[in-house]
Amino acid sequence: MSPISMAQYDVYVTCNECGGVHPMGMGIYLENGPLDKQNISDTYQGRSLPPQVQAIKGHKTLCLKTGKQFIQEDNRQVFLVPVKWKSADLDPVFPRRSEDS
Ligand SMILES: [Zn+2]
Repeated sequence: MSPISMAQYDVYVTCNECGGVHPMGMGIYLENGPLDKQNISDTYQGRSLPPQVQAIKGHKTLCLKTGKQFIQEDNRQVFLVPVKWKSADLDPVFPRRSEDS
């Protein structure tokens, strides 16, 4: 087993309004997350979702094209995109949030 490392991920969601893919504006840290862009459904098939991922659910994303906010409920349309690998002790976990409105 390799030592535990946490990877930072940006969260992207397929837009209900325009059909594009937008960043949710949240960064999360995951152990054993996907090495490449992958949707939540595939990543955690048969496993329980970690709390960081559960917290994504119901989070509003702003569509930059239409200016509307939407909530993506389908885990197949929510993507984890690795930012870079880093060791667990470098940074505390501070989810970046876009504006809460
Ligand atoms: Zn959109």
